[in-house]
Amino acid sequence: MFEFLLSEDQKKVRDEAEELVKWVPRQMILDMDSDKIKFPTEFLREAGKRNLLGTRYPKCWGGRDMNWVTTATLMEEIGTLGYIFSCVFGVGAELVCDALILHGSDFLKEKYVKPLLRGEIFAAECLTEPRGGSDFFGTSSIADDRGDHFLLNGQKRFIVGAEGADYFLVYAKTDPTAEPHKALTCLVVDRGPGVDVKYVYGLMGCRGGGAGRIVFRG
Ligand SMILES: Cc1cc2nc3c(=O)[nH]c(=O)nc-3n(C[C@H](O)[C@H](O)[C@H](O)COP(=O)(O)OP(=O)(O)OC[C@H]3O[C@@H](n4cnc5c(N)ncnc54)[C@H](O)[C@@H]3O)c2cc1C
Repeated sequence: MFEFLLSEDQKKVRDEAEELVKWVPRQMILDMDSDKIKFPTEFLREAGKRNLLGTRYPKCWGGRDMNWVTTATLMEEIGTLGYIFSCVFGVGAELVCDALILHGSDFLKEKYVKPLLRGEIFAAECLTEPRGGSDFFGTSSIADDRGDHFLLNGQKRFIVGAEGADYFLVYAKTDPTAEPHKALTCLVVDRGPGVDVKYVYGLMGCRGGGAGRIVFRG
């Protein structure tokens, strides 16, 4: 990131990210690349302890009241460790928490955002399906509204962080007859019975990031 674009506070966060990068043991990177570590729990814990996750969110939910420039700067620093570090750093704290901060209830923010930003729990975002990822509105997973709960059935693919996630942000159809953008709902699903996760891909440059496939069975 160009120095002149950064405020003093942002430079400080960038320096903190550099410190985090230096903290990562070389062996951790090698173990991830050889799939001995399937998900970098220790790295995300450390990032959370240092208050580097979700810095652009309000302080009351665990962020630091910063902005996207800060996020981009952090991602750039962390990406020096390898693409997959930025990817897992961003999936939970940026993709999942962004949806919850913007659209979730205070209950969800309390239960799922705060501990994630402290580095205590982890999350994955489940959009892509076996039939394709670009066609977002073609999602074929179904969440049937049963009044006091949803019955979710479907499969997801290429889900970064699936291996380590404690919960999943899942896009599913709740009204298959509605026009596409009104047919989908985003659900928070805890890991548990009926959620089958397989770490399968061995993606070049992405090993150790927990990418897996998930089947939701009722
Ligand atoms: C490393 C990695 C991590 C990922 N992490 C996640 C994750 O955490 N969560 C998640 O949900 N998904 C994840 N994905 C999946 C990713 O979002 C999808 O790969 C992406 O959306 C593309 O979908 P697809 O691979 O099924 O390709 P397809 O959608 O089948 O597309 C195949 C090709 O056709 C082209 N194409 C598709 N539709 C059209 C069209 N209408 N017009 C013209 N061309 C078209 C595409 O550009 C592409 O070249 C990950 C993928 C990778 C590789």
